Amino acid sequence: MTAATPRRVSIFGATGSIGQNTIDLIARDPDAYDVVALSGGANIAQLAEDARRLRADVAVTAFPEKLHDLRAALAGSGVEAAAGSAALVEAAARPADWVMSAIVGAAGLAPGLAALKQGATLALANKETLVCAGPLVLETARQHGARLLPVDSEHSAVFQALVGEDMEAVERIVITASGGAFRDWPLERLAGATAEEAARHPNWDMGQRITIDSASMFNKALEIIETREFFDVDPDRIEVIVHPESMVHALVGFRDGALMAHLGAPDMRHAIGYALHWPERRDLPVARLDLAALGQLNFRAPDDARYPALRLARRVMARGGLSGAVFNAAKERALDHFIAGHIGFLDIARLVEAVLDRFESDPGLIDAPMTLDTVTQTDHLARQRVDAAMAQRAG
Ligand code: NAD
Ligand code: MG
Repeated sequence: MTAATPRRVSIFGATGSIGQNTIDLIARDPDAYDVVALSGGANIAQLAEDARRLRADVAVTAFPEKLHDLRAALAGSGVEAAAGSAALVEAAARPADWVMSAIVGAAGLAPGLAALKQGATLALANKETLVCAGPLVLETARQHGARLLPVDSEHSAVFQALVGEDMEAVERIVITASGGAFRDWPLERLAGATAEEAARHPNWDMGQRITIDSASMFNKALEIIETREFFDVDPDRIEVIVHPESMVHALVGFRDGALMAHLGAPDMRHAIGYALHWPERRDLPVARLDLAALGQLNFRAPDDARYPALRLARRVMARGGLSGAVFNAAKERALDHFIAGHIGFLDIARLVEAVLDRFESDPGLIDAPMTLDTVTQTDHLARQRVDAAMAQRAG
């Protein structure tokens, strides 16, 4: 069904896994959408191809050194080329009805805030936005009458299970975790795990960073905090359960004992499409589950010794303030070092914990008022402290 007036949409992180799935849905009904901005990183060929095909107004690469290539790739197309973080924010401030936030990492925060300030509906795949700056983001949305819709599969599932329900009646929220690449590895092997091994997800096809975060459960740790912010529930009402099949995405438990589960094939186009068409449901090109063929679904409690990230997330929620920004930035920096082969898999959590300890011994920093500037400064300092902690260990 095509709306009379095309909806103006922008996609940040268009060249990534979520971005490409979003484009797949939009490209199936081109007359329904008027594409304002697309953003990407180093993959200029993909960005330019999609910008031409979708007739975007502007294409932005995050990297200024790529502007020349982007201009060349867009020559004669009528699509404007831009680069750098200020250009991302400028593009996000251009009026749009619906904006996909699918940059990976804290770099997604500033464009997301700019989109909310112009009143767009922000489809949030970038969980880091809520982990780093939940209260600031929610307040910005409120002030500008903008709406946030979840795209993370668990949060989309919870959101769907809550339609027509009163939050007062919610007893608990249970998010599922596949357990990632190493869920069946003996603990002793984890210390020697490589980035390549961690980047092989058993069920989901996602970007490299979130896939490694799934193996360490830092992804689930971020998602617990995202749940807390998105649905405004107490941390002790949020549970994680390991579910190897990734068919049940989340469950909501109510005061009468009912547990509403959301099931679906592990395909992000479901959650993206739900956010795109909300509050309607429309046909989506996702596989339908054959429960009889599946036969059984399994669940087990997460092993705390295997997944220290889950304990660290609880600590961050108890501490509040800017500790989410510290947690996320320290994790991002430690992950950079793991991908580069500088540290082992288990060192990621050790470094994040060391940096949290250091910030907590210096509480003035995390208790500063939350603004984009303080979040950004805290993020930078946390990254430096990861490097300092590594230098100290090496020395
Ligand atoms: P990806 O690595 O496949 O894509 C990331 C995108 O961000 C690319 O377009 C890349 O060019 C861009 N980018 C990278 N660094 C950037 C920077 N510094 N500044 C601006 N842009 C930059 O990642 P993804 O798997 O699509 O994940 C995107 C976001 O969605 C993440 O926050 C992730 O946690 C979340 N998410 C992803 C999935 C999934 O299935 N892939 C599921 C749930 C949530
Ligand atoms: Mg998720």
